[in-house]
Amino acid sequence: MKIREKFAGKSSSHKSQTSDVVIIGAGIIGLAAAYSLSRIGKSVQIIERSKPGVGQSTKTGGGIRLAHGSELNIQLSQLSLDTWLNFEKHFNIDPFYRTTGHLFLTVESESALLSQAALLERMKVDCGLLTKSQISSYWPQLSSTNFLKGLYCNEGGYLDQHRVIKGYVDTVVSNGVKLLTGTQVEGLLKVNERINGVKTSAGEFHAEWTINAAGPHAGEVADLAGCQIPLVSRRHELLVLEESAAVPEKIPWLIDIDRQVHMRPDGSGRALIGGFLGRDEATDPNAYDPDLSEGWSKEVRREASHSFCITDPESSVLRGWSGLYPGTIDYMPVIDETLPGFITAAGFSGTGLMHAPIVGEIVADLTMTTKRHLVDITSLSSTRFTKESQILESTGF
Ligand SMILES: Cc1cc2nc3c(=O)[nH]c(=O)nc-3n(C[C@H](O)[C@H](O)[C@H](O)COP(=O)(O)OP(=O)(O)OC[C@H]3O[C@@H](n4cnc5c(N)ncnc54)[C@H](O)[C@@H]3O)c2cc1C
Repeated sequence: MKIREKFAGKSSSHKSQTSDVVIIGAGIIGLAAAYSLSRIGKSVQIIERSKPGVGQSTKTGGGIRLAHGSELNIQLSQLSLDTWLNFEKHFNIDPFYRTTGHLFLTVESESALLSQAALLERMKVDCGLLTKSQISSYWPQLSSTNFLKGLYCNEGGYLDQHRVIKGYVDTVVSNGVKLLTGTQVEGLLKVNERINGVKTSAGEFHAEWTINAAGPHAGEVADLAGCQIPLVSRRHELLVLEESAAVPEKIPWLIDIDRQVHMRPDGSGRALIGGFLGRDEATDPNAYDPDLSEGWSKEVRREASHSFCITDPESSVLRGWSGLYPGTIDYMPVIDETLPGFITAAGFSGTGLMHAPIVGEIVADLTMTTKRHLVDITSLSSTRFTKESQILESTGF
C-alpha cells in the first residue's frame, strides 16, 4: 500500500462509521494497542490528529531497559523484550536494536544501588554490582572516573524509534486497521452510560470500545469523558554531539545516579547525552518549547564530561530536541477501563516505548470476555490517585 493511501486525510463525507474499537492517538501506545487488537480479530479505527509518531514517540532516546525501581516496570520490560529482539520477524523492518546493557554509577549512593540490585535479582534480571577496579578493568575508558560502585545490567539497549513506528504503522494497516490522520477527537459519544465512540471534525466513529492513547493530551481526552485523571507531563531533552567527540561503541549506556546525567553511543560513534539534572517540573503540553534549551545544553555537556571523562564540555552539538514524559503524579501509568467502554492507556513517563508491546496486549485483554490476565494491573487504576499517592518508581533518567 502506498504511503499516501495509508495516511489518507479527513473524510469529506462526515458519515458515521462503526468498528469494534476506536483508538485516540497513533503514538507507540495507540499503535501497539491496534496491533494486539487486530491480532485478536477486532476491527480497529485509529484517529490521529497529526501523523503517527509525531507526538512523543519519536522524541525518545530509543531506550529499552530492564533495570527499574519497581517490580511492575521490570515485569513490563521483561514481557516486551522478546518483541524488540524479534521485531524484524514480526514487523518486517530492522529496528537497529543494539544491546548495550546499562551501567548505573555512583560515588555517594551505594545503598541505592544495593537495593536496586536486590530487586533486579529477585526479578531474575541478569545484573551484577561492580567495584571501582572492576569498572576500570571491564571498560578502561572509564578508569579516570571517580565512581566507587556500579550496577551493570547486561540486557537492554536502544533502537531506532522511527523504524519502530514505521514497522507498527505498516503492519497494522496491512492487518486491516483503519488509520485516519489529521483528525482531532473533539468529543466522546455515550449511550446508556457507556462510551461508544468519538466525535471528530470528520464525523462520528462508533465503537464498542474507545481507547484513550493520547499521550500528554490524555488528560484532556479524559476530561471529555467527564473524568479527571492527574496526568502530568514533564519536559526532558536529549542531544547528540558532533563526531569529533567520539564515544566507543563498546561502552554500555552510562547513568550517573548522583548527578542525574546519562550517555550512550548513538550507533555511529557519536555521544547521545541526557539527564534530569535535578529538574522534573510539570509542563503544559499545549505550551512547551520543543527546542533544545541553551542553558541545559551547556550544563549537561559539562556534567557528562565531569562524570564519564569521555567527552569534552565544549564539544559542539550536532542536534538536540526536547519532548515530554507523559506521566502521572506517581510516575506510573494508568491502564484501566476508566468508564464502561472507555479504556485509558497513558502516563508512561520515560517507559512508553519500551513497554508498548505488552501494553498493547493488556489493552486487548481488557476488551476480551475471557481474559488472559497477563499482568496484575490493579495498581495502575485511574482511581488510585484518590488515595494518598506514593511514588512507586524512582529510576527514570
Ligand atoms: C526526551 C525523551 C526521551 C525519552 N526516552 C525514552 C526511552 O528511551 N524509552 C522509552 O520507552 N520512552 C522514552 N520516552 C518516553 C516516551 O516518549 C513516551 O512514554 C511515549 O512516547 C508515549 O507514547 P504515547 O503513544 O502514549 O504518546 P504520544 O507518542 O505522544 O502519542 C499520542 C498521540 O495522540 C495524538 N493525539 C493527542 N490528542 C489527540 C486528539 N484529541 N485526537 C486525536 N489524536 C490525538 C497525538 O498527536 C499523538 O500522536 C522519552 C520521552 C522523551 C520526551
